[in-house]
Amino acid sequence: MRKSLVAGNWKMNKTVEQARLLISEMVPELKQVEGVEKGLCPPYTALLAVSALLAGTDIGLGAQNMFWEQAGAYTGEISPPMVAEFCQYVILGHSERRTYFGETDATVNKRVQAALAHNLIPIVCIGETLAENEAGQTAQVVSRQVGEGLKGIQPEQAGRLVIAYEPVWAIGTGRAATGDDANRVVGQVIRPALDGLFGSTIAQGARVLYGGSVTAANAAEFFSLPEIDGALVGGASLKAAEFIKITRAAAA
Ligand code: PEP
Repeated sequence: MRKSLVAGNWKMNKTVEQARLLISEMVPELKQVEGVEKGLCPPYTALLAVSALLAGTDIGLGAQNMFWEQAGAYTGEISPPMVAEFCQYVILGHSERRTYFGETDATVNKRVQAALAHNLIPIVCIGETLAENEAGQTAQVVSRQVGEGLKGIQPEQAGRLVIAYEPVWAIGTGRAATGDDANRVVGQVIRPALDGLFGSTIAQGARVLYGGSVTAANAAEFFSLPEIDGALVGGASLKAAEFIKITRAAAA
């Protein structure tokens, strides 16, 4: 049995004061939702404040990215030990990182290895662009992202991996994939690619989330599907009522 995870990616939104307000609106109800793992990923600057506000709840904290080196002359970067001071999760390889900041499967791989070495749960984002989707290349792109992004990871560590299947064309567009299409990519492409790397126990045990314009209105459809184990939620995680409804749908 895979336990569903709903994680909110706040992206580059919320000052500390705004983060405190959103947490105060969200957490009293969110912490009462049982049977689903919950995570919030605010920007780095709000991690300390949010971690204090989540103390004593069952809501986990995540960062939105992380460099792979331990420490040193890497101006502007955040290291694994810095993230691990506050967080249980770290989002890696988000399409916005790949598109705007030049991240590649190879650099995602280094980050994933570093996250696992620091006992973090990496939420590894993969997904095809619109052009790739329209060219019929979804399976090829997604299996390459799994193969290259998770290369060299030991099976004993792979059990902690979480994959987020996020078609790039669905992120922030209001145009979600259909549940059936997402379920098919997870079941026919992502799990077989995991199987090839780590064997069937890990492939069947790994949690694979869907992400891309998940809302309170469409969440239940994704969560009803056998291959989908929760959601990575962007825009809707900035609205307390919406994110609570999505989390409740995952618990139902
Ligand atoms: C995301 O940022 O991972 C995401 C899925 O965004 P949105 O829910 O806004 O599409």
